[in-house]
Amino acid sequence: MDLSPNKQPNFDNTEIAFRQKTNAELKQAYWLFKIISSNFLTKVGPLVTNFFLNIGLPIQGAIKATIFKQFCGGESIAECDQTISQLSKGGVGTILDYSVEGEEEELVFDETCAEIIRTILRAADDNSIPITVFKITGIGRFALLEKINAKDALSALEKAEFEKVRLRCEMICKTAFDKKVPIMIDAEETWIQNPIDELALDMMRKFNREGIIVYNTYQMYRHDKLADMQADHLIAKADGFVLGVKVVRGAYMEKERKRASDLGYPSPIQPDKQASDHDYDAALRYCIDYIDEIALVAGTHNEDSSRLLTYLLEEKQIAHNHPHVYFAQLLGMSDNLSFNLADAQYNVAKYVPYGPIKAVMPYLFRRAQENTSVAGQTGRELGLIERELKRRKL
Ligand SMILES: Cc1cc2nc3c(=O)[nH]c(=O)nc-3n(C[C@H](O)[C@H](O)[C@H](O)COP(=O)(O)OP(=O)(O)OC[C@H]3O[C@@H](n4cnc5c(N)ncnc54)[C@H](O)[C@@H]3O)c2cc1C
Repeated sequence: MDLSPNKQPNFDNTEIAFRQKTNAELKQAYWLFKIISSNFLTKVGPLVTNFFLNIGLPIQGAIKATIFKQFCGGESIAECDQTISQLSKGGVGTILDYSVEGEEEELVFDETCAEIIRTILRAADDNSIPITVFKITGIGRFALLEKINAKDALSALEKAEFEKVRLRCEMICKTAFDKKVPIMIDAEETWIQNPIDELALDMMRKFNREGIIVYNTYQMYRHDKLADMQADHLIAKADGFVLGVKVVRGAYMEKERKRASDLGYPSPIQPDKQASDHDYDAALRYCIDYIDEIALVAGTHNEDSSRLLTYLLEEKQIAHNHPHVYFAQLLGMSDNLSFNLADAQYNVAKYVPYGPIKAVMPYLFRRAQENTSVAGQTGRELGLIERELKRRKL
């Protein structure tokens, strides 16, 4: 590819990557990644922390000042304001992510639905919050979705219960449509994903006729998802709506493999990392080939895939800030991608998870586990922070 190098972001530029961080914040991030790089601490940490929280030890303050501060925006939407404006100064948008997990009561589902709607209202007319997000398991019972996925017969009560999930989903997407705030539906475990996909396609059919509002998520660590995405594109084209595609590799690999092996069915996961990478990049190519019909969010911390997407845009002479192309990362991770891409005028946004500390602990534990030395991300994060500390002579 013939590309002029000055148009490409430099992911090694740590000055731009950490411009928003004070010296003290940078040092704190360094020690945090050092600590969570310990596999032992990351294994023991969740047990000890949950125990302390459950017996009421006052450790919330310590959590809030450390790991929570690195990966979350605050305990409420209002508390996220500082993070939103900090990201925005670097040209990076915020994706408010209400991260309460594991609650299974109708009342809580209604409350979560109302809170997701509040994120859309907060985003309306604010360019610093260009997209919003939610999880279907935030508004519906996991076991119910599992039953539907397995095509088990539902009782009359369960049918009514699922109708409520559908109505909550529709209320969220309708608000997004009315307020012109795009919304993404996260992908979850394979054994509940079919009803999620069906709901998402239904919402796109309803709300994506005049432009992009609803995105579904396609996990390329699944060997069937590239084909599914292409099939959905054909459905959208025939039906006359824009397909919203968030492409990710996938977050539940170990769990997926274990369940498949425990229950004796073929694993839905790709045979190796290379195969996931291959399909991820193929999905990017496909979406860019059909840029008028597909709106893409590339949710990734992978430098090669991010670079590939910049090349594809260059190759096809598509504007860096084309409204159908977004790069997305998680708060507290891969700032070298987010801020250098934003500096080169690409559309970039970061998930900013928020919620009461106790409720977002599962999310924080996942981030910690992803950042152990075994998972490999720490090396990247620590190396970049070290380089910036050296550059600042700290
Ligand atoms: C903005 C954003 C939104 C996200 N939304 C979702 C979501 O809705 N649902 C969801 O499930 N995840 C989501 N994720 C998480 C995502 O799926 C990945 O877990 C995470 O981003 C790491 O992958 P990566 O592309 O950044 O790059 P990398 O670090 O290059 O890839 C790591 C990933 O590759 C895959 N992988 C690793 N080893 C193997 C192997 N041996 N065989 C096959 N595959 C392998 C796994 O998916 C692993 O997570 C999101 C991530 C981001 C940044």
